[in-house]
Amino acid sequence: MSNATANTEQDFGDKPIERRDTDNYVNEYVDSFVDKWDDLIDWDSRAKSEGSFFIDVLKERGAKRVLDAATGTGFHSIRLLEAGFDVVSVDGAPEMLVKAFENGRKRGHILRTTQADWRELNRDIYGRYDAVVCLGNSFTHLFNENDRRKALAEFYAALNHDGVLILDQRNYDAILDHGYSSAHTFYYCGDNVSVHPEHVDDGLARFRYAFPDNSVYHLNMYPLRKAYVRRLMREVGFQNIETFGDFKETYHEAEPDFFIHVADKR
Ligand code: SAM
Repeated sequence: MSNATANTEQDFGDKPIERRDTDNYVNEYVDSFVDKWDDLIDWDSRAKSEGSFFIDVLKERGAKRVLDAATGTGFHSIRLLEAGFDVVSVDGAPEMLVKAFENGRKRGHILRTTQADWRELNRDIYGRYDAVVCLGNSFTHLFNENDRRKALAEFYAALNHDGVLILDQRNYDAILDHGYSSAHTFYYCGDNVSVHPEHVDDGLARFRYAFPDNSVYHLNMYPLRKAYVRRLMREVGFQNIETFGDFKETYHEAEPDFFIHVADKR
């Protein structure tokens, strides 16, 4: 699908729940959606609620060179730069990198950006890294197993021999196992943005994002099970995989909303 002109409207076709396609991520993050999200989510409170978990894991391993594989609008790249890491910022969507670069400038940084799809990552980046981070529930955009294996293999290849991959995901097990009706609405930034799974089956989680100006956007994502992601990581070659539950975003729920996989190459 062409992306030559600025995107302002999402297009999932006539049957949105049949749209299960890895390549559609570039078209889902239309400018108006990204701008609204960026305006409403206060980075300082996001940083506070996320805590120093990622930074601590990286520092424990003595990581210096970090590849942010899912830069988006730059939140993690900029946090890691400010924490003293040497960061290269990758995303497959060029508009995201433009936005990330602008956000970096506003905070006094020049981001080193590279546009690359994960499935062909090593064609477009230079050298090896101590860590690859793929955060903000990004891996969920891959809709078939070959794409997931290829992306993980490319992350693996981009790492030094003792490198680490940190990849997070929404807790889809809870949504798939306890049924659609129990899936709660996630609120970001007070009640500014509400996020709710509108349709869930084994092959699709379609989330609805509602903003205070009544605008509504959607993302179609693949509902990754925790054990499945761990298995793929192991099969690709990661030796030691630890999965953490993040309780920080939880809204009156006993189970974590996010899982964080920390996968070591050795
Ligand atoms: N880490 C950021 C955050 O948490 O704010 C951004 C997360 S955003 C949910 C996911 C990002 O992954 C998007 O910017 C999207 O363009 C990128 N992405 C999705 N699939 C990709 C792929 N196959 N290759 C490269 N980037 C991809």
